[in-house]
Amino acid sequence: MIKKSIKQALAKVALPLLRKHGGMQPKVFFYHGVEEHIVDKLVQTMHIEVALFEAQMKYLRRYYNVISIGEYEYRLEKGFSGNEVILTFDDGYRNNLTVAAPVLQFYELPFSVYPSVAYISTDDRCPTFILRAIILNSYVNQLDIPSLKLNVEFSSSELREKIYCELSQMVKYSSWDKTRLICDELINNLPSGEWQAICDRFESDRMLNWNELQELTRYNCEIGSHGMEHGLLHAEQPESFVERQIITSRDLIRGKIPNCEYYVYPNGGKKDVSAFAMKTVEEAGFRLAFSSVANSSMSNRFFLPRSGDVLNMTDFKLKLASK
Ligand SMILES: [Zn+2]
Repeated sequence: MIKKSIKQALAKVALPLLRKHGGMQPKVFFYHGVEEHIVDKLVQTMHIEVALFEAQMKYLRRYYNVISIGEYEYRLEKGFSGNEVILTFDDGYRNNLTVAAPVLQFYELPFSVYPSVAYISTDDRCPTFILRAIILNSYVNQLDIPSLKLNVEFSSSELREKIYCELSQMVKYSSWDKTRLICDELINNLPSGEWQAICDRFESDRMLNWNELQELTRYNCEIGSHGMEHGLLHAEQPESFVERQIITSRDLIRGKIPNCEYYVYPNGGKKDVSAFAMKTVEEAGFRLAFSSVANSSMSNRFFLPRSGDVLNMTDFKLKLASK
């Protein structure tokens, strides 16, 4: 691994050249939450602090051309100049409105937000948040998940991490009913009132409600869909589940907001999106759909590339400048 200081020095020399002669492809970036302060890095692992986010937006404003998702669609046909950047926000965190949107407005940058619709106007949290908050962050030392016949005492932080990784895969790739049951059983391990206390502690990354989602459209912001429950659309999922994620989410958003033209697949890896899911997205009338695969081909309009996890400035600049 290259030392951080060497990487920064290399970046300083190489970046002006890369910006000038680098890739001719636009970069679609994905973010999740933007926080005033990260309360706990283990729980809010996908979120970025506003100071770093603002530095990134200032840099984009200076060196790149941030375009809307609609303009990206147009240029898919007409061609890109190469320095376009598109900003997308997954899951639908309230802080997209309260923290990110004012920064984006200040730098006059368009963006788009993709909520998982089942969480709008509820206090529910995504399964991955529940897992991280209870296993990695709470003081629970013994975990009982009856449906998995799992009863484990966390004798070390390594074991805690190992169980977290195993359960994380399980909730992503199980049926939705099973995922929900595991989450409920996880919460049952907490003393009374503790789950609410955890949610209060991470209040800033609560999901948007419908009014807040509508408020976002007052900014230069497009709203798309990220499914209903954030369930993955892999080949093992029943077709009815896939259709519900795509079609029902679209209908609910269009009931409140005039358009819902773009789709972002939860998780968005190659194995997380079946051919049936891509076909359903197309037939449902979505104009484009995005993966989380940085090098996927731009010729498939229903599995377009995106880059993410740019949680430090050097990586952000290098990712922007790379092909
Ligand atoms: Zn997501």
